[in-house]
Amino acid sequence: MFTACKTSIMTNRVITSQIVTGYQECQRKAFLLLFGNDQGTRHQYVSIIERQRILNRDRQTDTIIKQGRTVKAYDDSSLGEKNAVFVDARIRVDDCEAYCDIVESPSLSCSEYRPIIVTGTYKVSEEQKLELLFAGHVLGKALNSNIQNGSIIDQGGRSHKLKLSNSQKILNPILNSLSQWMVAPPTEPPSAVLHKACPYCQFSVSCREVAEKNDDLSLLDRLTPKLIKRYHGKGIFTLKQLSFLFKPRRSRKRKSKLHEIYKPELQALAIRTSKIYLLGTPELTRHPTELFVDIEGIPDQGFHYLIGLLICSAQGNSYSSFWANTQQDEEQNFRQFLATIEKYSDAPIYHYGSYEPKAFRKLATRYKSDIDSVRKRFINLNSLIFGKIYFPVRSNRLKEIGKFIGASCVSDTIK
Ligand code: SF4
Repeated sequence: MFTACKTSIMTNRVITSQIVTGYQECQRKAFLLLFGNDQGTRHQYVSIIERQRILNRDRQTDTIIKQGRTVKAYDDSSLGEKNAVFVDARIRVDDCEAYCDIVESPSLSCSEYRPIIVTGTYKVSEEQKLELLFAGHVLGKALNSNIQNGSIIDQGGRSHKLKLSNSQKILNPILNSLSQWMVAPPTEPPSAVLHKACPYCQFSVSCREVAEKNDDLSLLDRLTPKLIKRYHGKGIFTLKQLSFLFKPRRSRKRKSKLHEIYKPELQALAIRTSKIYLLGTPELTRHPTELFVDIEGIPDQGFHYLIGLLICSAQGNSYSSFWANTQQDEEQNFRQFLATIEKYSDAPIYHYGSYEPKAFRKLATRYKSDIDSVRKRFINLNSLIFGKIYFPVRSNRLKEIGKFIGASCVSDTIK
């Protein structure tokens, strides 16, 4: 049975939009937001996105004013007013408080209330959709009616309409769990199990410290929550315990397969013994001239602003940087890069990871370029390491391996 927003309030705590979206991402995050004394430190990227969101909200508000509608600061008592637009609304009902950038009340052009979330990003995330669902849910409680639709306006000004009538199915499990926490708070926070969202979370420093102290399995980059659960089922909770599971196989029949399968146990052993382990020899044919490429971009905007190129030949090494200061420069930048590498048509093009081939595919499609011959020259150095070489580090990220082998970064942008 749905209980949230009806439960008698036993504490002064409220279930906010941030806590609801936090719970969906990580239960520990929701717990720390709800019960923690320290609210952590916001990541720089998240702060930039938040600033962009405020600017975007101001732009949307200006547009509404130009349309001749009345814009008001939100307060509970004025919510019933028709033909009004409320901005920066914190809608509180019982123990729930939803944030909504804009609430439109019924007008001649729209017969129903409409919650609007404004974003600082160009792409709409699942988290932002959940934020809107929660805003619609609490607004509905405040008006004692069902909110049917809402919108998300992205950084580019595009409006994405979302049906809110079935929001209960998604919200109920989250709100019920949070309500139970409010009534009977757990004595301990959920464990610090690191995952891909952690680097941007405000609690990343403290959670990493806890994970380090516990020598937690999630410190290994490639261990997924599913794999971690499987190891927990076997009574393995720490990297040290994991390291003792590795058993070298001598069977020749399995040799070829061994090269392809990643072994977390061996990674843990490499870390415990501070040694590099080889499960195979990477095969790489060297060439008189070799190219190394690295692309930097802003995924949210689909914008690739830098292509770095290192040319190694008998004459020495030379570096080139292809910068696009704006999206309009991107095509010319890409074409200049292609013209440069065409001068070395026999040279392999080394890259690290899957980002570069994907970026090239996107750029080639966007600018209608045939890059088939270029793509055939790509060699992913990461795939030469994967499952074969185990460095005593927690991930195969270039920065981490580079640091171990004594290579220093020219800039922070090296992946
Ligand atoms: S750092 Fe990671 S584990 Fe810790 S609260 Fe944030 S998302 Fe959860």
